[in-house]
Amino acid sequence: MATLKTSLATQADSLAIIIPSKPSALKVSYGQLAAEVSSFQSKLAALGITSAAAVSIALPNSYEFVVSFLAASWQRAIAAPLNAAYKQDEFEFYIDDLKSAVALVPKGAYKDNVPAVRAARKYNAAIAECYWNGHEVALDVKELGKLQGKQNQALQRAQPDDIALVLHTSGTTGRPKAVPLTHRNLTRTMKNIQGTYKLTPKDRTMLVMPLFHVHGLLAGLLAPLASGGSAIIPLKFSASEFWNDFLQHGANWYTAVPTIHQILLRNPPPQTKPDIRFIRSCSSPLSPKVFHDLEKTFDTPVLEAYAMTEAAHQMTSNPLPPGKRQPGSVGIGQGVEVRILDDQGVEVPQGSEAEICIKGENVTKGYLNNPAANKSSFTKDGFFRTGDQGKKDKDGYLIITGRIKELINKGGEKISPIELDNVLAQHPAVAEAVSFAIADEMYGQDIGVAVVLKDGKQLSQDELRSWVVQRVAKFKTPKKIYFAKVMPKTATGKIQRRMVADAMLKQSE
Ligand code: ATP
Ligand code: MG
Repeated sequence: MATLKTSLATQADSLAIIIPSKPSALKVSYGQLAAEVSSFQSKLAALGITSAAAVSIALPNSYEFVVSFLAASWQRAIAAPLNAAYKQDEFEFYIDDLKSAVALVPKGAYKDNVPAVRAARKYNAAIAECYWNGHEVALDVKELGKLQGKQNQALQRAQPDDIALVLHTSGTTGRPKAVPLTHRNLTRTMKNIQGTYKLTPKDRTMLVMPLFHVHGLLAGLLAPLASGGSAIIPLKFSASEFWNDFLQHGANWYTAVPTIHQILLRNPPPQTKPDIRFIRSCSSPLSPKVFHDLEKTFDTPVLEAYAMTEAAHQMTSNPLPPGKRQPGSVGIGQGVEVRILDDQGVEVPQGSEAEICIKGENVTKGYLNNPAANKSSFTKDGFFRTGDQGKKDKDGYLIITGRIKELINKGGEKISPIELDNVLAQHPAVAEAVSFAIADEMYGQDIGVAVVLKDGKQLSQDELRSWVVQRVAKFKTPKKIYFAKVMPKTATGKIQRRMVADAMLKQSE
């Protein structure tokens, strides 16, 4: 009977969490962590939290986050992590969408009247500051809101099919959708990730992805906690601190988006070369060029994985050696069945492109309050339609060719923006390139690209076009090329093509 509580590793004396704050790091063993979560569960119950109550966690990556998240799930409540940097209208959207019972905010947030506090008050959620006071995680209740009169609930015990977590999708292709994930969904992913990377108590990861998304939460925190390993959790990713923390606290792997890998390639470790067992890349396409640079620079296998919120993160990954790694591919299903299906739900021949569909215990049963999306998202035989287009190569390795909604449709010719990004990224003067659809009178859509050049490099539009024409069919030549200083990205470092396109069109006005 797997729940988050029963999945936590039980080696009481091994280190679970390391917070590399100064002057000295906070180091927490599995025994201490379990005791602390249990005590925080009692605090939540005393506040009035019980089964199915939504607990919005507006805390940055921290020990408090880990404890309050686990405690909410142990109390059968629904944890809803939120980006502490949201603006007020974003907090209002999420707090209202989930009908949050309480918003957990950092120390001082109440006095400072931060956006999360204002939004919680608007929707009458309780407001409580949550912080490490030097010997335990404190819960300082500031306003009771709708929990007034409901204090002192009994301790609950979660069941596998209880919803433990609600996260919203990134909103790349539309309004963010609320995805409920049960203990069963989460623990399945934890096992899948543990299995893919053979995680053991000896492994130690640098957790630099935000915990308010599945990437950081599942791959960076929960899978290691199920494996008995440790997670080193800085407040946020910092290129200048990363290798110090990595070396000082004995990390041997990390998972991140390609943007972070690229920053680390530009900021390699100091004198000592870390011994890295593997690097995992996920959440955005990893260009074969960055893949090769990473493997060469850090002398370790780079394993690209494919994930989404609805699947409680991971669906596929390249395997560890001696398994084969395929640059440009996201590997094979990891405890998840992957099929390429046409509009009718029929599997297409190997090598053909169509929608990537998945099935597994990790996949959500459906979005919250969104019957239309639920109807269109599942096939008759229960496969989830990812909205991504792809194909399998002869070895069954999955290649993502784009999001169905982001494919560039030039007069009926479908152009994969990912393929074009990779061609552009190979140019020696190009640091980053993102392709997107632009409106076109003649073809309906044509190709726009945003390009960031490497420091000190110069490149003309004509030179870049001829680079493309020499490598792919002529109809894939970009019509508009925008040179930008930095590439616009989301809070998690993901590329949203729509966002890039809007920024480029604005820049050229
Ligand atoms: P929304 O569903 O609201 O439009 P979103 O799909 O970006 O937003 P997430 O669940 O955070 O929200 O992201 C999942 C998506 O990220 C996948 O469907 C896929 O398009 C993309 N993705 C994940 N991993 C990879 C990868 N390795 N390569 C390419 N794309 C990836
Ligand atoms: Mg999506």
